[in-house]
Amino acid sequence: MSEAMRSDAITLEGVSKRFGSHIAVRTLDLGIRDGEFFSLLGPSGCGKTTTLRMIAGFETPDTGRVRLHGEDVTDVQPNNRRVNMVFQQYALFPHMSIYDNVAFGLRMKRVPKAEHKERIASILRIVELEGYERRRPRQLSGGQQQRVALARALVNTPAALLLDEPLGALDVKLRRTMQSELKSIQREIGTTFVYVTHDQEEALAMSDRIAVMNDGRVEQIGSPREIYNHPATPFVADFIGSLNAIELVVAERVGNLAVGRYGDGQRIVVAAGAAVSAGDAIRVAVRPERVRIDCVDGAAPEEGSRLVGHVTGVVYLGMFTQFQVETPAGTILSHRLADEDLAAYTVGAAVILSWPPDQTAVLAGRPPV
Ligand code: ATP
Repeated sequence: MSEAMRSDAITLEGVSKRFGSHIAVRTLDLGIRDGEFFSLLGPSGCGKTTTLRMIAGFETPDTGRVRLHGEDVTDVQPNNRRVNMVFQQYALFPHMSIYDNVAFGLRMKRVPKAEHKERIASILRIVELEGYERRRPRQLSGGQQQRVALARALVNTPAALLLDEPLGALDVKLRRTMQSELKSIQREIGTTFVYVTHDQEEALAMSDRIAVMNDGRVEQIGSPREIYNHPATPFVADFIGSLNAIELVVAERVGNLAVGRYGDGQRIVVAAGAAVSAGDAIRVAVRPERVRIDCVDGAAPEEGSRLVGHVTGVVYLGMFTQFQVETPAGTILSHRLADEDLAAYTVGAAVILSWPPDQTAVLAGRPPV
């Protein structure tokens, strides 16, 4: 067993799952670290839930092994694995008090009754439901009910908590509140959370690391910042949000930078790996909010990417204003916050767009599996 595997709470080694002729999960290798908030993110049907259910033991993989803290649990029944699952439909018992709903989690794991009171009090304090012990679920709000479901799943101190779109049934505002509550609960107890969602913002806001899945495969694993600023594949770039994708022919390499030129000092500069050489055609991406906009006679930075163009569209989007600019590299979007002085950038204005080299991501193809 490798060192990396030993520090992993959950390891999937070559795990795959097929339903009839449909391949739901294709030979997946994944290490989820102890204590981390790890999200499986991807569109509907990409295999997130199947992956989670294989960790829980509700599905048996066709190939590969599942390990919890290094121990092979592939053939271990769900109730003998030290993981618990929380679902979107949290299925509290309506006729039981909150106390008894949480105690159910302990009874399932045959925890001696003498320990119940203290453990339930402690977990209800963490989910901020002290004083609600005698209420019934219908006397609680949706968010409070979800916290009872969490308490029930956490009360017998699982090694990992598996959450399948747990906030999916809540309205947007409550969802946002619950996201930060979930995150702070996770931080307080330090349990490994594996969180399935198709909501990019949710994954970006809560996770230590994210695995972006597509068609049964992991396309990229990284921190929210890495995934957002340096999407590794066109799929990840598309799925995570708006961005400028630019086809670029590399004119020269300067140290670790690749440079594409568009005449008159106009260029796109990319931090690129050794595999990219002069003459290569590559696809790169930059987020609209990274693209600075200046008047042609203004103080645009000299370093990094720099394109001259004219504004062809201005759209107010609440928090920010979107400028559409025609440049020799194609149409580029720039998002600027409304508190900047943007009055000069009307349709037809000549502008300079610029951004630093480390804000340009090279979009590779799908990584080899
Ligand atoms: P969603 O966000 O919609 O839940 P998901 O990414 O969690 O999607 P999965 O539930 O893992 O996706 O499903 C992956 C694929 O496997 C889907 O095409 C689904 O229809 C199929 N699938 C899942 N479970 C079964 C099953 N028990 N029998 C047959 N096909 C299944």
